[in-house]
Amino acid sequence: MISNDGYPVEPWSVREDHLDTDRLGQTESIFALSNGHIGWRGNLDEGEPHVISGSYLNGVFESVPLPYAESAYGNPEAGQTIVNVTNGKVIRLLVDDEPFDTRYGTLISHQRVLDLKGGVLRREVEWESPAHRTIRVRSTRLVSLTHRAIAAVEYIVEVVDGPAEIVVQSELVANEPPGASAQKADPRTGAAIERPLVPEVSSAHGSRAVLIHSTKQSRLRLAAAFDHVVQAPRGARTSVESSIDHARFTVNVHLKPGQRLRLVKFVAHAWSSLRSAPALRSQVDGALTSATGHGWERLAAAQRRYLRDFWDRADVTVEGDPQVQQAIRFAMFHVLQSAARAEQRAIPAKGLTGPGYDGHTFWDSETFVMPVLVYTNPPAAADMLRWRHQILEQARGRAQQLGLRGAAFPWRTIHGEECSGYWPASTAAFHLNADIADAVLRYVSATGDRDFEHRVGVDLLVETARLWASLGQYDRGGRFRIDGVTGPDEYSAIADNNLYTNLMAQQNLRAAVEAVERYPDARRRLRVTRDEVRAWTRAADNVLIPYNDDLGVHEQAGGFTQHARWDFARTKPDQYPLMLHFPYFDLYRKQVIKQADLVLAMYLRSESFTADEKHRNFAYYEPLTVRDSSLSSCTQAVMAAEVGHLELAYDYLGEAALMDLDDLEHNVRDGLHMGSLAGAWMAAVAGLGGMRHHGSSLSFAPRLPSSINRLRFRLSFLGRLVEVDFDGRRARYRLVRGRPLTIAHHGEELRLTNRRSIVREIPAAPHGSEPKQPPGREPARRGARRRPMKLKPGKTKEVA
Ligand code: BGC
Repeated sequence: MISNDGYPVEPWSVREDHLDTDRLGQTESIFALSNGHIGWRGNLDEGEPHVISGSYLNGVFESVPLPYAESAYGNPEAGQTIVNVTNGKVIRLLVDDEPFDTRYGTLISHQRVLDLKGGVLRREVEWESPAHRTIRVRSTRLVSLTHRAIAAVEYIVEVVDGPAEIVVQSELVANEPPGASAQKADPRTGAAIERPLVPEVSSAHGSRAVLIHSTKQSRLRLAAAFDHVVQAPRGARTSVESSIDHARFTVNVHLKPGQRLRLVKFVAHAWSSLRSAPALRSQVDGALTSATGHGWERLAAAQRRYLRDFWDRADVTVEGDPQVQQAIRFAMFHVLQSAARAEQRAIPAKGLTGPGYDGHTFWDSETFVMPVLVYTNPPAAADMLRWRHQILEQARGRAQQLGLRGAAFPWRTIHGEECSGYWPASTAAFHLNADIADAVLRYVSATGDRDFEHRVGVDLLVETARLWASLGQYDRGGRFRIDGVTGPDEYSAIADNNLYTNLMAQQNLRAAVEAVERYPDARRRLRVTRDEVRAWTRAADNVLIPYNDDLGVHEQAGGFTQHARWDFARTKPDQYPLMLHFPYFDLYRKQVIKQADLVLAMYLRSESFTADEKHRNFAYYEPLTVRDSSLSSCTQAVMAAEVGHLELAYDYLGEAALMDLDDLEHNVRDGLHMGSLAGAWMAAVAGLGGMRHHGSSLSFAPRLPSSINRLRFRLSFLGRLVEVDFDGRRARYRLVRGRPLTIAHHGEELRLTNRRSIVREIPAAPHGSEPKQPPGREPARRGARRRPMKLKPGKTKEVA
């Protein structure tokens, strides 16, 4: 079975059977390897051809000017952009003096496989040189999940049809030319900096070399080093050399058919804003010594073990749709890679897979990526919030600059300062602060990690609550209003009382009250007064909830339903995404929704809506939502499932899961969409599984669309591992590990003990006609209602 975009459908791998140079940019992202600290794009070993050559270190950025046509108070003065660091991937090969380059000679076969169980990228190539010598190359690449500083490549060369003089050049390359220029006028691409690195140290000896550089403005120092193990027939010669931006280890050998050259390359990366060059050099040397001590086999085995543990507690099994099965595992693999060893650093919107969005981190990480981590890899979730804690000082400074109290976290950043020059869709999107609070609550209540709450969580909750108290005000009727803010939907801005924002702020304020009651010492440390706590409670109790009585629906923001509807009928298919074809001014004053906003509130603050309200709201907002953000379909999947539109939920699950494998937004070359990848898990678990977690209660409401036979997932909750396994009729709950736990199945309480699983019937879904999407914006149908989805004029996608 071949998926839409040409990757054969396989349960545990993503395979490319021939080298498609038109898709090189996409595969560079799809085949990216990362551990959250190091990110290597899936570039070819020999470095060329490439679309974007990328090697990244989490947190390494350069400061760049943010020019404004007109200046204004409070605009950030500088931006930050991710830096393409020293490239340790490169291994060049010469066959009788002919460089192995897929653009020359004859490429007999070329296969690459991303192995989701092994955590490696494998490549097998047969190539005939222009001088008619055929060679076979097998390379396996890993970025270690167990050794944070280490990446490694096993590279094996054989000659097939006769002897040849083989030269392998393993390299470190700094200040590479940046690669393809950004796609014009698309704000989602990143800015490439020419020659970002200033050389400091270059040295080589034996089979090792090190290059140390620093960035010009941000003044970060980074080191890359390599070492090698060579197995070759007698007579092989090696040499090593280095210059300021380049180091090379060369092996030269005469190979006959039946003989092979095996090279293992170990690469260590390190960076610091404080440590000296000698200290960094020792750090990479030490990491290399440990990696070479372990050797390739043990590194690869440790990688496999790490992933076995992960899949054991996190796998999602889908029976009946192998394509979605593959896509969900691919998604979870990349989400894990983005976070596994990030260790108190951010998780950027693209992970470390590409330069899109300049490597910035947004609310995507708290609202979409965090939940996956909380229930599958809780320590990584805590670390991400520790990063927020580390940038609290910058956030306090920003609040002060804005004339507010507490902390105003940056809409987009690498280092902690606000990096967006477009304030209506950044600074005004204050909801990010409540999203961080929501992530704190979710993590603490799913793990019971009180130590984290005490040392980290309470500070985040208090400072964000302070922000809300200073941002809102009371109207004459005593209702707490938050005016002039932007919610998740970026096709509305500077609105009064965005419902999502108000409800999330309410939760944030209440959580802060509870936290300071629990930790009096933290209350003293943070100088929280009794008046302040009273003010938070009063604001939370009186938050304004905009509702339109005539329509019987909630308002996305005050007055939203009175705006003119967007003229969907006259919008052509190639005018999406709308933001690239229409002025924001016009989008802002119409009823058109870029991404789930109120619908997201109905998921995250589920208890604030009745079942009827959810139905009516979903039906009202669905025909206005164009999904110009990849963060939308997962949320729509969750709420479509809750209100009983299971086929629609399934369509949205498919869209979220296939966003990158099928390149639905045509920008995968800039990096993967971590939020949407995480959203695939959310659509399966919170959508079809109906999982909800509020406080210490965990509930499920599983239901399947007709064409999925069975869904099974596991999640970690309060030290337990719970398995939910269901088909169209029955759900089976099992406590895989841990003490007894009470959960709920469609409202019925069940006590799980480790002695037996509990089976329950699944009640029928509520009936109702499915709402329509804006014309042409229907998700590709996966279930019973198959039909093609138009993507771009002339380009029609067949849905399997
Ligand atoms: C979305 C934002 C998101 C950002 C980064 C934008 O298109 O509207 O909600 O944070 O992309 O993924």
